[in-house]
Amino acid sequence: MAEVRAEASYVRHNRHKIALVFAAMRHFRDELRERGFAVHYYSHEQGVETLLDAVRDALQHCAAEVLRCCHPGEYRLLRDIQDWRLAVPVQLCEDDRFLASAAQFASWAEGRKQLRMEHFYREMRRKHALLLDDAGKPEGGKWNYDARNRKGWRAEQAIPQRPRPRQDALTEEVLALVAREFPDHPGDLDAFYLATDADGARAQFDWFVDHALDSFGTYQDALAEESPWLFHSLVSMYLNIGLLDPLQVCRRVDQAYRDGACELAAAEGFIRQVLGWREYVRGIYWLHMPDYANGNSLQAHTPLPAYFWDGDTDLRCLAVALRQSLQLGYAHHIQRLMVIGNFCLLAGLDVDAVCDWYLGVYVDAYEWVELPNTLGMALHADDGLMASKPYAASGKYIQRQGNHCAGCRYDPRKTTGEGACPYNSLYWRFIDRHRDRWRANPRMQLSLRNWERKKAAERRAILDWAEAEFTRLVDPGTHHQARRRKKTLPP
Ligand SMILES: Cc1cc2nc3c(=O)[nH]c(=O)nc-3n(C[C@H](O)[C@H](O)[C@H](O)COP(=O)(O)OP(=O)(O)OC[C@H]3O[C@@H](n4cnc5c(N)ncnc54)[C@H](O)[C@@H]3O)c2cc1C
Ligand code: SF4
Repeated sequence: MAEVRAEASYVRHNRHKIALVFAAMRHFRDELRERGFAVHYYSHEQGVETLLDAVRDALQHCAAEVLRCCHPGEYRLLRDIQDWRLAVPVQLCEDDRFLASAAQFASWAEGRKQLRMEHFYREMRRKHALLLDDAGKPEGGKWNYDARNRKGWRAEQAIPQRPRPRQDALTEEVLALVAREFPDHPGDLDAFYLATDADGARAQFDWFVDHALDSFGTYQDALAEESPWLFHSLVSMYLNIGLLDPLQVCRRVDQAYRDGACELAAAEGFIRQVLGWREYVRGIYWLHMPDYANGNSLQAHTPLPAYFWDGDTDLRCLAVALRQSLQLGYAHHIQRLMVIGNFCLLAGLDVDAVCDWYLGVYVDAYEWVELPNTLGMALHADDGLMASKPYAASGKYIQRQGNHCAGCRYDPRKTTGEGACPYNSLYWRFIDRHRDRWRANPRMQLSLRNWERKKAAERRAILDWAEAEFTRLVDPGTHHQARRRKKTLPP
């Protein structure tokens, strides 16, 4: 096992993420040694540059006949491993942090005109017998209760206080290392809130099932000024590094529903995310890489504004989401998609730069999951492969879903003039700029008709205002330089 420098620094990873990964590795190393395994461990302090350097060194110290490693989560690493020339053969093992292998997903996808998540999800529900009745039909008669997962937040109930795991000496040592070695990376380590071993992750998940799951479904799409996590589970970071098992968490939630501990819409909503979306995005990634990373179908090239690195903007919803992402490495799905992602989409921010930002900032970010969600779902840069309609919305959506607007200097009811919410004019600018594309998309007809129904003078006034807002909000002098993702990919 190796904490290699190249992996810790190829994007500006959040310090919470580096600390979580290193501390979890060190705990796992100790557990393996206690169970009698010989572990060659390279700590970050030893300065090993790449995984290949670590592997070569380890091979000199043992009489291995074969090198077995887990299928990596990023395409660039897979290509690296496939290029290793070693004295022993390299075998890649299936990654058991997922329920559907890349090959199984590819065979499901074969011959289908459209890869709808909903169809894949139903098959996974049947295969793993989750939320099915005795006749094998979906509990409650329906596969999907999404319509009951969309309530906005009006602070009508208390948000339970999450317990913060107590950290042991090993994790404290890693926190000190990360603070010392990664001074320019985002992340406030004084607020470190993560479990770093499997028992701790299970305890966090148990807390979610007992205290938050029942309200998870209702407020899945809500935005709350007073809480970064509302009723969300905070399990992606543990699932993605193997501290929790996806099937076990789904079974536990299925059981909670059968025990009457949560309503069906909550259990189904959670299982749909883990069994459906999580597996589906990974399938899409491996099916379409490496070409997928080159997508930029809306030709978005505007540099990332500097406030993406400090949250210093007066758009309140955006500032809250950016600051908590930088500070904690966490934002829930609607913040990632409809606040930050929506802003990037409407402003046409550079696809590579935005993807790098998401890959660096979040504690659960690995390319297999970050790329389809960011490039595909949020930025619509994959020509509609992930989502048949862009997730573009005006300030009215953000107002409906939460309570940010009440304390904002902008007004979500205004589109132009002093105090108008920038999401509104940028939304119409986005519809207008790509109107020929939307004409061919049945799901965009309503928005297009609403735009074209406006009088020419009103449209002109909105576009003029939007152009001025765009210039004001996107400072071209201080942008973040994207890692050249495309050039790092082999042909
Ligand atoms: C632009 C964008 C970027 C994202 N980047 C990442 C990322 O780098 N890593 C990551 O794990 N998730 C990512 N997601 C998906 C989702 O936002 C996070 O998994 C979720 O917010 C994690 O918080 P949670 O554990 O509290 O999730 P909950 O809301 O409690 O959901 C439960 C679980 O469902 C799974 N899940 C839900 N939605 C998705 C999804 N769209 N794709 C994959 N899994 C999903 C996660 O494992 C999550 O832990 C991204 C979404 C968007 C829109
Ligand atoms: S008014 Fe606009 S910018 Fe302000 S919080 Fe609401 S949606 Fe965000």
